[in-house]
Amino acid sequence: MPRTLLILLLLATACRREVPVLLWHEVGCGTRDPRDVPADEFDRELSWLADDGRTVVPATALLEPAKLPRKPVVVTFDDGAACIYRAAFPILRRRGLPFTVFLPASWIGADEAHRTTQPLGDGEQVPTMIWPELLEMEKSGLCTVGAHGETHLYLRRASEAELRRELVDAKAELSERLGSPVTLLAYPFGSFNRAVIAEARKAGYREAFSVGVGLGGAFAYRRRSIHRGADRAGFEEALSDRWIWPLLNHDP
Ligand SMILES: [Zn+2]
Repeated sequence: MPRTLLILLLLATACRREVPVLLWHEVGCGTRDPRDVPADEFDRELSWLADDGRTVVPATALLEPAKLPRKPVVVTFDDGAACIYRAAFPILRRRGLPFTVFLPASWIGADEAHRTTQPLGDGEQVPTMIWPELLEMEKSGLCTVGAHGETHLYLRRASEAELRRELVDAKAELSERLGSPVTLLAYPFGSFNRAVIAEARKAGYREAFSVGVGLGGAFAYRRRSIHRGADRAGFEEALSDRWIWPLLNHDP
């Protein structure tokens, strides 16, 4: 076999097309946070997905690439702001679209009296979801709940004990409350390295997601963050397919 053909063949088998995994933080919270997307804007963005012929698949579908539809896309939310339940969930339910919510276990209050708030970029606080809301979304069959640590630490800076709490304890707590094993993880701040990946595997997660950067494997999916005011061209840019060449990706 000629050498160029062999090289092309090797490239074709090593490269893979990355499925776009989109990330929103707040939808319709009414805050100043640039990541807070108004509900009508979010609804329009879901229409753009449909116009583009995209099929929204659950995050777990990435584990079986052979079964993915032609133009898949994954919808995720981080941090569990209560407005995701109030504003985004009704839209997703009306459209029948699957989605994943990643949230830190210790931020979820038992009921209204124990609702916590979370800090946004400039000191604003936003209420976090409580368990009845999370359970209602999960019961719809559309929502998958994933871990986002126990307290939202930078995992690359965590000690061994902290890493255990953030990965193992958070998983156990969420799984117990939901009554089914939690197998998905989003690294807070997208912060991970090889040691964090090894611990996540050991803790029993099956997939993990970063933000902005990724290695392309099941434990380092890259996500594309959607901010308020994205125009159609910007949104379609976030959706564009890119090739991943694993050996050229660094360990962030
Ligand atoms: Zn987060």
